[in-house]
Amino acid sequence: MTPETSSVLTASAPGRVNLIGEHTDYTGGLVLPMAIPFQTNVRIMPASDGQYTFHSSQFNENRTMSPDDRGPAVGNWSDYAVGVLRELQELGITPPPFHIAVDGNVPLGAGLSSSASIEVATAAVLLEHSGAQLPLPEIALLCQRAENRYVGSPCGIMDQFVITAATAGHALLLNTRDLSYQHLPMNSGDLAGCVVVVVNSMVRHTVTAGSDYAQRRRELEAGQQILRDRFGVPDLGGSTLDQLAQVQEEMSPESFRRCRHIISENARVRQAADAMKAGNATALGKLMTTAHASERDDFECSVEEVDFLVDTAVQQPGCFGARLTGGGFGGCTVNLVRAGDADTFIAAVRDAYQHRYNIAAQTFVCEAVAGAVERASAEGKQIAA
Ligand code: ADP
Ligand code: MG
Repeated sequence: MTPETSSVLTASAPGRVNLIGEHTDYTGGLVLPMAIPFQTNVRIMPASDGQYTFHSSQFNENRTMSPDDRGPAVGNWSDYAVGVLRELQELGITPPPFHIAVDGNVPLGAGLSSSASIEVATAAVLLEHSGAQLPLPEIALLCQRAENRYVGSPCGIMDQFVITAATAGHALLLNTRDLSYQHLPMNSGDLAGCVVVVVNSMVRHTVTAGSDYAQRRRELEAGQQILRDRFGVPDLGGSTLDQLAQVQEEMSPESFRRCRHIISENARVRQAADAMKAGNATALGKLMTTAHASERDDFECSVEEVDFLVDTAVQQPGCFGARLTGGGFGGCTVNLVRAGDADTFIAAVRDAYQHRYNIAAQTFVCEAVAGAVERASAEGKQIAA
């Protein structure tokens, strides 16, 4: 099949790094991520064979299915795209037959959300191909449902939301209970002289159902239920440390520590948003480093290599703060660094890590880029109603 070039549509979506607010996005809390300059590009062509076909340059397996196929996930990369298709079909949107080709450079499984990136780019291109639009939060929510229900990974809403809704030059403060959000500029006050450095530990995380992540979620849910029963709060996002102290005896020590991480993290996100608005890099960096200690000690989602990266980072001149970012159990750190010190910072962290673990860390200096909706509109397309 050689489609007309004019009938080829494309969409792209970025990766993301979370500045602060970790594991708060499935308990009604706050998060403060930004979209970063990696991307997943999805091309779609009308298909004359009446089928849906999925191809990715990053993987060997292709997948072809009939438009009425409602079979289960097959356990490879295509589930992320097919999950999005399924959710659109649930909403009554039936794309005409197509051939989809994916090509991306978001590091896979590194905690920079290549999964949400492929989901959102696929949703964007399928909407355009189907001549449909959805409200912006609904695009993010349907991508989250695709990952939860079809892929089977119980992620929160942060990744899909920021990858859909980010605006260039800004981080995004999101309240995950009501999906209200604000774009916070990355260039006010001292922040204008800073860069965000992402360091990939190259230790792969295991954010899958049945893993440590699922166990953390069960421990949190148990604690959250006790708080709900006692205080009538909707979720951990609506709870205080004082309330938690009052029910400490009723919950397991693990549930207590997991909940303490979430409640204190929400407070840190609020303070971080204030620090960003005031352009106070010192305050923002301190909150990031404190957040790391909470992830390490209370949520226990860090690993030795990542702790080493953070400890090394905060000793470097010009580093305001550092923390594990993403689901944890490996993955990346996010570091706030004075721009003029970034090169020496990167060299020092890489050298120390190589020396200690014999692993070459990947490092990326990231500016805040646009999400999928803004990218589409820059090309004169409207995917959000
Ligand atoms: P993360 O979101 O942190 O990168 P995940 O394990 O949640 O890690 O998602 C990674 C998976 O997403 C990949 O293993 C693959 O199945 C899918 N994926 C991401 N990007 C692509 C791509 N460009 N092509 C095909 N599949 C992709
Ligand atoms: Mg993911």
